[in-house]
Amino acid sequence: MAKFYEYQGKEWFKKYGIPTPEGIVARSPEEAKAAAAKIGKPVVIKAQVWAGGRGKGGFVQFADTPDEAAAKAATIFGKEHKGLEVKIVYVEEKLSIVKEFYAGIIVNSSKDVRGPVIMFSPEGGVEIESVSEDKMALLKVDVIKGLEPYDTLNMALSMGVKGKVLTQIGPIIFKLYKMFEGLDCRSLEINPLVLTADGRVLAADCRMATDDAALFRQGQLGVKVGREFRKEPSEFDLMGWSFEETDLRGTSYIAEMKTPEELKVGRYIGYHGIGGGAAMLGMDAMNKVGLEVADYADASGNPTASKVYRVLKLIMAQPNIEGYFLAGFMMANQEQWHYAHGVVKALREELPKKPEGFPVVLLLCGNKEEPAQKILKEGLAGYKRVEIYDRTYVYDASFIGGRMKALVEEYRKQLGV
Ligand code: GDP
Ligand code: MN
Repeated sequence: MAKFYEYQGKEWFKKYGIPTPEGIVARSPEEAKAAAAKIGKPVVIKAQVWAGGRGKGGFVQFADTPDEAAAKAATIFGKEHKGLEVKIVYVEEKLSIVKEFYAGIIVNSSKDVRGPVIMFSPEGGVEIESVSEDKMALLKVDVIKGLEPYDTLNMALSMGVKGKVLTQIGPIIFKLYKMFEGLDCRSLEINPLVLTADGRVLAADCRMATDDAALFRQGQLGVKVGREFRKEPSEFDLMGWSFEETDLRGTSYIAEMKTPEELKVGRYIGYHGIGGGAAMLGMDAMNKVGLEVADYADASGNPTASKVYRVLKLIMAQPNIEGYFLAGFMMANQEQWHYAHGVVKALREELPKKPEGFPVVLLLCGNKEEPAQKILKEGLAGYKRVEIYDRTYVYDASFIGGRMKALVEEYRKQLGV
């Protein structure tokens, strides 16, 4: 699921007619100050990260003056909330809140539901899991019949909402569903939906995630990587994704584990698994001998040689890696000769760019293993410190890990590090 920042979701709220406070994005305390000055009222300053619980964590701050806004913003910039660094804050007019509601929509894919479910509670502002069942109205939407404005009015009414608040909340939930549908969301949530002292109902927060499978028709969302990422994708991640985006044959999943900055110290292995489980086995084997991986890569599902080649080129481009490990800890039913061709071509191009004797351990077995092994052995003959293993070792992760370690140690001695 592609995730969005609160401020991005709120821009969509405006387009769908859901009231939300006027806000300005700021990337430094000075920008936060200017934003507060422009708003010209007391403000709330909210860290923009892909995680909730900011209120409790001190990542929602209040300020009465622009100077105070700069000072408060300075206390959250650069800090981490749930492992995510704050690089952006959203400065909004501070609301005078008298009540907090909850409104949310998810796709429930369980057998009994298989469709969107709208949730509404008069007890918002807290973790929604902690709200008791009788305080939560649920509505399964019949996607054939569609939703009617009176459905959402009845929902709010069933929770005791009345008068001018009801006539605002009903349409807000209805519009929320229109947005959910229009943007192919998997989840969309307003927590809290607030009632202010002057009687207005507004969305004070937004959490939004969309369906990756629908991104082909959601260019308007500007999602860079149609996959669940914990953080904003790095340059490495984006390059990895480009292989997937431009070639649907087989799969390649590539993620940055260490930033180029962290890689400066060396000591990391360029890592390449085949299949999720096997890839984890290989990482364990590395960790057990005290080696760490620079990246996570898994190319499987019968990828073409060209896809494997691109994955390898990216892995090998990481600065200061001290080895390359192909962890094929599985008797894959994909045709491994395609794999072997991709590996050989990339290594023949990349190895000459590294000091002679750059450690390489390749484990590859499964369907078309014999020709695959032949391709590897012939293609990489004459390269120092390249070890190639077949099915004999598919169960022996500790042996393979040990070989990687031994080669890395020899290599480090050779380099004098
Ligand atoms: P979350 O904790 O990450 O979900 O962030 P929220 O945007 O939901 O903010 C947390 C809490 O801060 C809300 O439940 C509100 O109680 C409070 N809050 C957010 N915006 C305002 C505001 O404009 N005025 C006031 N008084 N409180 C706010
Ligand atoms: Mn919230």
